[in-house]
Amino acid sequence: MALPHTAAANPDPVMGSRAERARLPVARQVVEAVAVKYGVCVHPIPVRRVDPETGTSDIVDVPCGATVTSKCPACAERARLLRITQCRQGWHLEAEPILEPDDPSDDQQELATLRADLEAVRTRAVIEGKDTVVVQAAIERVDDAMTAAGVRGNFLPSHARRRVRSTRRRQDAPDLPPTRVSPTTIGRTFAGKAGKVFRPSVFVTLTCRSYGRVDEHGVPRDMNRYDYVAAARDAIHFPKAVDRIWQNLRRVAGYEVQYFAVLEPQRRLAPHLHAALRGTISRVDLRLVAAATYHQVWWPSTDTVVYHGPVLPVWDELRGYVDPATGEPLATWDEAMDCLDADANAQPSHVVRF
Ligand SMILES: [Zn+2]
Repeated sequence: MALPHTAAANPDPVMGSRAERARLPVARQVVEAVAVKYGVCVHPIPVRRVDPETGTSDIVDVPCGATVTSKCPACAERARLLRITQCRQGWHLEAEPILEPDDPSDDQQELATLRADLEAVRTRAVIEGKDTVVVQAAIERVDDAMTAAGVRGNFLPSHARRRVRSTRRRQDAPDLPPTRVSPTTIGRTFAGKAGKVFRPSVFVTLTCRSYGRVDEHGVPRDMNRYDYVAAARDAIHFPKAVDRIWQNLRRVAGYEVQYFAVLEPQRRLAPHLHAALRGTISRVDLRLVAAATYHQVWWPSTDTVVYHGPVLPVWDELRGYVDPATGEPLATWDEAMDCLDADANAQPSHVVRF
C-alpha cells in the first residue's frame, strides 16, 4: 500500500512571515555562539581604566572568570582544565615543588634598566609640570615587553594605603594546641609490602550551623523563627571562615596541608564544602579544628536601613556616592572602618562558625 504524500513536519515558513522571523537567531545568540566556539569569554566585564596623571580613560574588557558552564562556557572550561592539571600534577607529588624563580635574563635586566630611566624622565617631567604623554606611552610599551619577556608582578611599589588594623580587631586566637608548621606539603607516608609506599588522603565535609528546621525541600518550617540574617551572613563570609579552617588545620597537623575542594549549596541554600586533603589527619583533630575555628567579621553595622525604595544614594563622578537630599558625600568604607576602630566597645558584626 502506498503512503499518501504528506507535507514535511516543519515546512519552510513563508518568506517574511512572523514564523520565519522567529526562526532567525538573535544577534546576541550568534555572538555568544561564536565566542563559545573560539573559547572566548561570553560575558567580558568592561572596566574603565583612568590614568590619574593625564585624566584620560578607556574601557578594557576582562574575562568574567566564571567557573560555572551555564554562566560562561569558555571561562568555566579554562578554570576546569587548570584545576585538572593542578590536581594531576600536584596530588601525587613525592617531593616539594620548586618555587624559586629563575635568575633574571640579560634581556629582562636591560628592559628593567630602560624602565628605570624612563621612570626618572617621567618624574622629572611631573616635577617640572611638563607633558608626560609620550614618556608614559614608552613606559607602557616597556612594561608590555617585560611581561612578554616573562617578568611577573608590578614594577612599582603599590602606593595604595594599606589598612592598619587595630590590635583590638585582630581575630582572637582559637583554642588550639600551638604547633610549629613545618614547610612541607607532603603528609605522612606508610610503608607497605614489597617496598610500596602509601600516601593516604582524607575526605572532609564542612557545613554551617542550623538556622532552624527545614522541610524536605529545604524550606524553613517556621518562617518567623528561622534565622535568615545569620544564614545570609554565614553565606557571605563562608570563604573567610574556610581560610581560617586551613590555617588552623595546618597548625594542628604541623605541615602545610594541601587540598582540593568544591563549594556546594545545600538544599537549604547554606554553603558547604567538600574537600580532599593530602595526608592523614585524625578525625579527632579534624573535629577539634572545626569546633575551635571561627571568623569574626569586623564590618560597620548593617542593621539599620538608611536608603530604600526610591530614595537611593546618587553616584557623583568626582565625590562618589552622595545623599540624594543633601548632596553630602556618604562615608567611605575606610571612614566607616575608622569609626569602628575609634569605638572601644565595638563588637564583631557577625561570627561564622562550623
Ligand atoms: Zn567568561
